[in-house]
Amino acid sequence: MFKGFDIPAPELDVVLPQTQKSFRVRSLRMSEEGSAKSSLLGNAQSIIKKLNHLVYNAIVDNDKPEPEQFLQQVTTKDRDALVFGMYQITYGDEYTFEDYTCANCQKTYSLRAFMSKGFVRSDYKVEDGQSILDKRITLELETGLQVVLKQITLEDEVNILAATSADDPLTELYSKIDKFIYTSGEGQKLELNIKDTPMDFLYGCGQLLPKHKKLINDAHTKEFNQYGVKVNINYVCPHCGHKENFNLDFVKQFFLLVCGLI
Ligand SMILES: [Zn+2]
Repeated sequence: MFKGFDIPAPELDVVLPQTQKSFRVRSLRMSEEGSAKSSLLGNAQSIIKKLNHLVYNAIVDNDKPEPEQFLQQVTTKDRDALVFGMYQITYGDEYTFEDYTCANCQKTYSLRAFMSKGFVRSDYKVEDGQSILDKRITLELETGLQVVLKQITLEDEVNILAATSADDPLTELYSKIDKFIYTSGEGQKLELNIKDTPMDFLYGCGQLLPKHKKLINDAHTKEFNQYGVKVNINYVCPHCGHKENFNLDFVKQFFLLVCGLI
């Protein structure tokens, strides 16, 4: 009986920048590419679920955690590193953008770059035995209103997407907040988070001012989000010599490739 071709999938070790775990991932197979297509047509929630599923299934370590634990123990920034590893092992190092339009001369050209050349990683250093998953930062937004920030895990992300609508522009802000601690004028103390009190949490977020959002974003970048991987693409326009420099959204690029859309 035919049991399939005995083709070994190439593998790669990936050390996660935030939690320092290490996983071995393998290349995707064609059957997995096809299965991603249907879910891309769905909402953000199903895209994220599909992405988590692809990443989890590509991990070949015998002692890998159960799916639920994996979601709890891995951050979104860690997933970026896993996706980058899967991208490299599945599709190779070259990034191609056909018909790239130069911002200066407006002429189009085919932009080709090697991702490993622009790859930058910044690792979180565990301080006093405190993992990034346990780290919390408290900011005073107003008298009586504190916000506690955290690093989002894959589980948090799934919870946020379940509690919000796909086109909610504040999703990214929610993902940085562990909870609000609010003391009302009457001295009543409340704690709001997206898991236990989603309606109040979302309503509270909507009442914040732009200056609060900036405080939250700045502190979160400094304490959490700066740790991870990124790919800077540098390229010179062959028509006019204009220098292009951008951060490649390789997670999106990977998903589009998986779905056969580019
Ligand atoms: Zn140009």
